[in-house]
Amino acid sequence: MFRSARIRLAAWYVLIMLSISILVSSFVFAAINEELRRIEYIQQSIEVNGRIPASVTMPRGPMRVHIMPLDTNEVRARILTFMVLINVGLGVFVGLVSYFLAGKTLQPIQEMVTLQKRFIADASHELRTPLTSLKTATEVSLLDKKLTLSQAKVLLKENLVEVNHMQVLTENLLRLSTLETLTQPLMEKLSLSEVLSAARKKVSPLAKEKSITINSPKIAFFVMGDSNALKELFVILLDNGIKYSPAHTTITIQAHRSRSNAVIEIIDEGIGINTPDLPKIFDRFYRADTSRTGNAGYGLGLSIAKKIIQQHRGSITARNNPNKGSTFTVALPLQK
Ligand code: ADP
Repeated sequence: MFRSARIRLAAWYVLIMLSISILVSSFVFAAINEELRRIEYIQQSIEVNGRIPASVTMPRGPMRVHIMPLDTNEVRARILTFMVLINVGLGVFVGLVSYFLAGKTLQPIQEMVTLQKRFIADASHELRTPLTSLKTATEVSLLDKKLTLSQAKVLLKENLVEVNHMQVLTENLLRLSTLETLTQPLMEKLSLSEVLSAARKKVSPLAKEKSITINSPKIAFFVMGDSNALKELFVILLDNGIKYSPAHTTITIQAHRSRSNAVIEIIDEGIGINTPDLPKIFDRFYRADTSRTGNAGYGLGLSIAKKIIQQHRGSITARNNPNKGSTFTVALPLQK
């Protein structure tokens, strides 16, 4: 598909360039032809009258005029051949350059289409498993003639859990796809302290459930950003910290300045991340060893976090703590 689009685009480039070149060549040839006609007129006049006609303006000043007999038709033919050759050469050269440039023009579109195809394939793969289990459970129950009302209610409850999971998954997928197409969010001056406390508030019911304490100092940094997106980013990190930590532990938020960046660290005392998984956890649908993590999510949170950070021209990294748990480090450019 992209090969034929590339050839068509290159053909358009060639057509435009050649049209301009042929137009210019025609003007040049018309001007030369006019001059050749003048020479023919002078030659004819010399042949008939033995002198240059009075109507022909010649350069002023003392000079001798040597007029050699000139075969104007031969000159015309040679100029025409030369121009045709130049245009053919130009056509070949422009064709090659255009093919290269068309490839360069189409490359980002091709990358986007590949990304979208992969996204759709991943999303359908993730949705197929819960849908299949929903379908099978419903079909088996429908075939059971002795199905009681209470059994049907249990089945409906189980189905509802699956439906809720799928809802979260589709919402996350939609969010990721919006972030992938959105190039620049609405930026405003934000207090990091306010963003972080809004994120803390959002996750506090989950933290309370597991008796996890979140410690956060007063942070006096201001950044340029989209407040909802940055809140979402810290909710994802705090939510993971809670999900992957045992009860009665502490999550600590730290902040410091590094050159022109505000650096925020979210340190938990949880299960940590296996070293081979560290470079992959920001990939879409990547979940580290589910036997350790307990299949707690869909592997989309950190890819959403990474997209948000990229849009804010910041960075996000993860590392394991020397003793226990992991640390996620976010760097955001400070507001000047
Ligand atoms: P999920 O919805 O599965 O949590 P994420 O993209 O947020 O998806 O995280 C990807 C994987 O990274 C998780 O499945 C988990 O294995 C690992 N992970 C993320 N945060 C932490 C953390 N704070 N502690 C330990 N592992 C983590």
